[in-house]
Amino acid sequence: MSVQHDPVQRADFDQVMVPNYAPAAFIPVRGAGSRVWDQSGRELIDFAGGIAVNVLGHCHPALVGALTEQANTLWHVSNVFTNEPALRLAKKLLDATFAERVFFCNSGAEANEAAFKLARRVAFDKFGEDKCEIIAATNSFHGRTLFTVSVGGQPKYSDGFGPKIQGISHVPYNDIEALKAAVSDKTCAVVLEPIQGEGGVLPADLAYLQAARELCDKHNALLVFDEVQSGMGRSGSLFAYMHYGVTPDILSSAKSLGGGFPIGAMLTTSELAKHLAVGTHGTTYGGNPLACAVAEAVIDVINTPEVLAGVQAKHQRFAAKLTQIGEQYGVFSQVRGLGLLIGAVLSDAWKGKAKAILDAAAVEGVMVLQASPDVVRFAPSLVVEDADIDEGLARLEKAVAKLVQG
Ligand SMILES: *Cc1c(COP(=O)(O)O)cnc(C)c1O
Repeated sequence: MSVQHDPVQRADFDQVMVPNYAPAAFIPVRGAGSRVWDQSGRELIDFAGGIAVNVLGHCHPALVGALTEQANTLWHVSNVFTNEPALRLAKKLLDATFAERVFFCNSGAEANEAAFKLARRVAFDKFGEDKCEIIAATNSFHGRTLFTVSVGGQPKYSDGFGPKIQGISHVPYNDIEALKAAVSDKTCAVVLEPIQGEGGVLPADLAYLQAARELCDKHNALLVFDEVQSGMGRSGSLFAYMHYGVTPDILSSAKSLGGGFPIGAMLTTSELAKHLAVGTHGTTYGGNPLACAVAEAVIDVINTPEVLAGVQAKHQRFAAKLTQIGEQYGVFSQVRGLGLLIGAVLSDAWKGKAKAILDAAAVEGVMVLQASPDVVRFAPSLVVEDADIDEGLARLEKAVAKLVQG
C-alpha cells in the first residue's frame, strides 16, 4: 500500500518554493484530533487549526469516512454535469441559513470574488453602470485575488500590483457615522466581516451591523458578509450573522466549511442569484464531489446543539486562562472574540511581538496564530478536548514566562 517517498526537509522549501511564505522550522507530518506530530516525532497541541480551517481537528473519523467513501465512488465530473454530494450539501446549507441559492468554489477568495461580481451584476442590471461602488472596512481581509485585495482594507496586500479595481472605498470598522457618510445611491454593496479575523479578531458591534443593514436597504445596496473565517460554528452560532440577528443579502464561506479539504461557497437569495445566468460565472473544480462530501460531513457534525454549545463553554475556558496569563505576566491587555475565534491583544509593552510569542509557543509544543503583529489568535478545533485546552495553555504560559525572563 504505502509508497516509498524521497526524503524532504524544511531547507528544501527555500530551494523549490516561491518565497511568498516563511513557514516554521519544523514540518508537521501527522495529526489526530488537536495534536500534531512533526518529522522528529515531537508532539504539538494545535490551537492554530490550519488558520480556522480544521474545524473538527485532524483526521476526524466522520470526515475521513466521507472522504474515503467518496474517493472510492466519484472524484470529479466538472460543472457540465452536476453531482449528488454537491446537491446534498447545497440543500443542507440552504436549510440551515437565510439563503435560497448557493455557488460552490474552492477558496474564500473565490467565494468573495463571486459575491462581489454578483453585487456589481445586480446593480448593473437593475440600476445601470454608475451604481458600482463597494464600501468595505479598513483593516479587513477578503482574500488575495486582485478584486479581493482591492476590497480588502490593507494596502500592504494590494499595493504594487498595478492598477487596482476601481470604485472601492474604505471606512473605519465599527464607525457608524463614517459608514453613513460613505454610502450613497452609487453604492452597490457594503462588505463586512462580522468578526474581523486577520485584522485582529475584532467583533462588530451589534449597532454597527444593524446600521449597515439599514443603510443598504435605504440606498438599494447589498449587504455582503464575509464569513470565511467567522462562519461554520466558530462564533458558537452556525454563522456569526445568526449570533447578531442581522441577515446579509450575500454570504461567503470557506475555511471551516471543508474542515481541511478546499471548498468555498457563496450563499444568496434566489432573487439575486438569477442575475448570474448561464455562462456569467464559473469554475472548473467548484462543487467537486470530494470537497462537497467532506463539507456535508462537517455540517452534519457541527450544526448540532451539543457542538455549538460546546464552543461557548470552551470559549470561557480559553478566556479565563488567557486573562490570568495576561494579568500575571502583563502580556495581554484584552481577550476578545466570539466562540473559538479568540484574540489576545498584546499590552503596550508587548506591541508588535505576536510573532515572537507564536515562535516561543511552538518551541514549548503549542501552535497558535497571530492576527496583525499585535494580537495572538486562537482558532482551534470546535471539538478540542478540555484536557488539550488546559495542556496547550499551560505550554503557552511556559513560553510567555520564558520570554518575560528574557
Ligand atoms: C482567509 C480569509 C479569506 C480568504 O480565503 P482563502 O481561502 O485564503 O482564499 C477571505 N476572507 C476572510 C475573512 C478570511 O479570513
